[in-house]
Amino acid sequence: EAEKEIGFFFPPEQTLAVIKPDTQHKEVILDEIRARGFTVSRLKDTVLSREMAEEFYKEHRDEPFFGQLVDYMVRGPCTMLVLTKENAVDEWRAAMGPTDPGEARETAPESLRARFAKDILQNAVHGSSNQTQAHDKIHFIFGDISSENEAVSPALEAEESF
Ligand code: GDP
Repeated sequence: EAEKEIGFFFPPEQTLAVIKPDTQHKEVILDEIRARGFTVSRLKDTVLSREMAEEFYKEHRDEPFFGQLVDYMVRGPCTMLVLTKENAVDEWRAAMGPTDPGEARETAPESLRARFAKDILQNAVHGSSNQTQAHDKIHFIFGDISSENEAVSPALEAEESF
């Protein structure tokens, strides 16, 4: 009962997370995600086309590493996830840790990037940086799932699609 009330006052938020290609620890990362209290509301493995990867990271189009980043993202299947939790966007950013695994190991040794990233490019996981981006990227990857999200009922929370 108490949980229901809390859920009413602080409705769960959603973010888009990606387990990037070549990550050797997908299952461990998925277990970690659940252990940290995120609900996996959607899950799909997708090999992005170059066009999709460029669109997905369009905010970085002018970065010197853009080409490398796109090459990396199309190298194999990405696991695309919609994660649901209170404050999901910030919580998932915290769970990932800093972009650079060197910095992650210094400042957030328990974070996923500290543990699983190979380098600043191949850093294992992605997460939206704000709610607008989360909404846009969820729509880009999964299409319109808003009707399913009107109420995040326990039944929906338990649902996982593969
Ligand atoms: P994020 O939000 O923590 O993922 O970091 P950014 O949005 O700044 O960068 C997007 C992605 O580009 C990162 O997750 C890395 O895969 C890659 N990236 C970021 N900075 C660098 C860099 O300085 N060099 C290289 N090679 N890749 C980078």
